[in-house]
Amino acid sequence: ATATAPAAAPRSAELFARARAALPGGVNSPVRAYGSVGGTPRFLVSAHGPYVVDADGREYVDLVCSWGPAILGHAHPAVVDAVQRAAARGLSFGAPTPSETELAEEILRRVPAAERVRLVSTGTEATMTAVRLARGITGRDLIVKFAGCYHGHVDGLLAQAGSGVATLALPGSAGVTAATAAETIVLPYNDLAAVEAAFAERGDRIAAVITEASPANMGVVPPLPGFNAALARIAHAHGALLIQDEVLTGFRVSPAGWWGLEGRAEGWAPDLFAFGKVIGGGLPVAAIAGPAALMDQLAPLGPVYQAGTLSGNPVATAAGLATLRAADAGVYARMDDVAAQLGDAVSAALSAAGVAHGIQRAGSLFSVMFGADAAAGVRDYAGAQAQETYRYAPFFHAMLAGGVNLPPSVFEAWFVSAAHDDAALDRIVAALPAAARAAAAA
Ligand code: PMP
Repeated sequence: ATATAPAAAPRSAELFARARAALPGGVNSPVRAYGSVGGTPRFLVSAHGPYVVDADGREYVDLVCSWGPAILGHAHPAVVDAVQRAAARGLSFGAPTPSETELAEEILRRVPAAERVRLVSTGTEATMTAVRLARGITGRDLIVKFAGCYHGHVDGLLAQAGSGVATLALPGSAGVTAATAAETIVLPYNDLAAVEAAFAERGDRIAAVITEASPANMGVVPPLPGFNAALARIAHAHGALLIQDEVLTGFRVSPAGWWGLEGRAEGWAPDLFAFGKVIGGGLPVAAIAGPAALMDQLAPLGPVYQAGTLSGNPVATAAGLATLRAADAGVYARMDDVAAQLGDAVSAALSAAGVAHGIQRAGSLFSVMFGADAAAGVRDYAGAQAQETYRYAPFFHAMLAGGVNLPPSVFEAWFVSAAHDDAALDRIVAALPAAARAAAAA
């Protein structure tokens, strides 16, 4: 075997075979199946700080971080303690609990552009509800989304979606009715002329524009300066809403998410936010947030219905609250520093191996894109798809062999945490040269 061949993981292989006989593809979320990188997905049995441990007993520095929630690293003592104490008081009551309000207050304290929060369990529910709310408020049917943005597996938002849809190179999903698909207008990202044209043509029928605050599901493709503000301006000029999806960026890229880096400084806000991931600290919590006048259109006050048996679950909200309370300025500074150092180290290793590439950065989120065109900077999904994607699988497997767990797709961001200390960084840096050579040889 060469250094780039997938390393053996006998116990994971055994578990994967067993899983495939019980779960479609052996997984409960498609990207986990290593579809685009090949080889045996590592079955993880524990995690601590910046590390995950697989069923064969091997430890990896983790750059997936549960796809975003783990900003403090895995099994942070304050979070685990809060969960254990909440669990001992009872798992779910189906009635209001004090910790739901505390979590909502913490979100509103950080994002004062919002006045009310509705808690749900997944990011998908958050964007689905935001879309329904926008339609209920405006009485209109059409939604604008951008190619390469992923907003969860909502029927109307899967067209040209990022994340696993991009990894599997699907145009969208089977099972979405033509009628539903016809209500979504898909535009190229970072293209204001396309947005202006869509509104000029059908502006009186568009309920909302939904966008990732800074896209990270086609790899990282940040908004051009002023893009998001212009979306708000154009939408409002036509009586439509702007839904900013911060499921991934929220409370990760700054104490107030992407809005804290951009909208707050520029003096504007989207109408509705979707949050998830970090606000659950690793348990299922997501949210819709916005001004009272809009949010109060939700039931029980308003006519837009939304509900959930496990919404605001006391154990899950305890995890989210403990995570946000521990996420002080030092946590964000460390994540920024780790991301900057890592991006530079990846770039240096690839350059040394003669691999043309670009490091796409958005706050502490970053991803690598391969090829000379990518080196010039990627601004949209077409650009992300045009990169030399075939270099990623050998790169990924060489990193895995070197003890580093990367996202198993080139169309995903790399996630750091404040627990990534210098020892963890050193391990990543040590694994990079072989991985860069593997990418060069692809
Ligand atoms: N929006 C964005 C921007 C996301 O990254 C994701 C998940 N990666 C979602 C929505 C959907 O969240 P969930 O997987 O919790 O349904």
